[in-house]
Order: sequence, then structure tokens, then C-alpha cells
Amino acid sequence: MSITRDDVINWLNACGRVLAENKDYLTQLDSDIGDADHGANMDRGFKSALAKLPTAADKDIGTLFKSVGMTLVSTVGGASGPLYGTFFMQAGTSAANKMELSAADWAAALEAALNGVIARGKASLGDKTMVDALTPALNAFKQAMADGIELSDCLRRSAAGAEQGMKDTIPLVARKGRASYLGERSAGHQDPGATSSFLILKAAVDTWVK
Ligand code: ADP
Ligand code: MG
Repeated sequence: MSITRDDVINWLNACGRVLAENKDYLTQLDSDIGDADHGANMDRGFKSALAKLPTAADKDIGTLFKSVGMTLVSTVGGASGPLYGTFFMQAGTSAANKMELSAADWAAALEAALNGVIARGKASLGDKTMVDALTPALNAFKQAMADGIELSDCLRRSAAGAEQGMKDTIPLVARKGRASYLGERSAGHQDPGATSSFLILKAAVDTWVK
């Protein structure tokens, strides 16, 4: 199995659907420890990104990701727009000129994306952000790949890693973003950005793994 350009387009569309379906859920999580806009931000951002996605069949995966990233930066305010924008732009640089991705290519794209988020937002593991879902997702993927497991199961394990990382944000005290203004009162709530990161990676499994 490899990830084709059409697979990527199907995944991006699935992200748009899943983020629309979970708009109220993400907003509810953000109302607990933020300003109740994460669901609206992600839904608006992906709707715009999908509307502007290049349709020409000769466009490579890197170009698609860069287009999504640039639209997210320009249409989503707040923290998550520039951060998810960077995520997709860096994935795009990693996947430049590729019409399909191997497991190693996907790992490289995810790693570049996560490193971009960290460079931009300066969050460390345990700060109660999207980094806490993306890091175990990348680690689980790389471990599964090193164990010689096929791509579909690498993707499943990666999404499971993201899910665990998302749940593990619940007891954490936020040290980055708006939730950090609450200090200790941010503990006991699941981080909205970690949740959207899980949903995006789960959408890849639901789209690609039959
Ligand atoms: P805002 O906080 O500006 O309202 P959103 O509500 O859309 O933006 O997104 C909030 C999410 O962004 C948080 O739940 C967190 O996961 C993520 N986030 C905030 N600041 C950072 C950061 N510095 N690094 C990584 N992720 C961050
Ligand atoms: Mg918010």
C-alpha cells in the first residue's frame, strides 16, 4: 500500500467532514479552557482550504498540502490557524513533487509538520497542546514502521497514539496558548487542539484503511 494523490484528496475531504461534524464538540472543549472558537476555526479553515484546493490532476501532494496550509493561515485567526497552517506547509515541503507517498514519506511529512508546529508555537510535550497528540502519533508510526508492520497498521497505531495523547492532556496544566491563562484550573479538561489533531489522523485511517 502507498498513499496516492487521490488518497490525499480523499483524506483532506474527510478532514473537512469530520471537523464539520465535530464543530460543536471542539467548541465545547474550547469553551471549557479557551474562548469557544476552536470548532468554528477548524470548520471554517478546512471549508476554505477545500474550496481553494488545486483541482488540476498534475498537481503533486506537496502542492496540495501547501495550498491547505496557506489557506489555513490566511482564513483562521487565533493560535490554531498559523499552527495548522505551518503543519500543512511543512508537510508540503516534505512531500514536494511527490505523486504518492510511501510509509517512510508519510513519516517524514508528519515529522516535518510536527517540527514546524513546535518551531512556531514553542510548545513542549506535556504543555497541553496539539503537540501532545501529534508526538505520540509520530512516534507510534515510526516504531510500527521499524517493526516492519504494513502501512495500514502503522496508520492505525499512529491514530491510537494520537488518541492516547489526546486523553492524556486531560490532567495536564496548560503552559501554552489561551488555556495557560487559567493556570491550575485548566487541569481536568481535554485540550481542543489535541482533539482536532486526533480527528485529522483518525480520518486518514478511516479513509485509507479498508
Ligand atoms: P485560540 O486559542 O487562539 O482561540 P484555537 O481555539 O483555534 O485558537 O486553538 C486552540 C488550540 O491551539 C489549543 O487547544 C492548543 O492545542 C493549540 N495551541 C495553542 N497554543 C499553542 C502552541 N503555542 N503550540 C501548539 N499548540 C498550541
Ligand atoms: Mg480558541
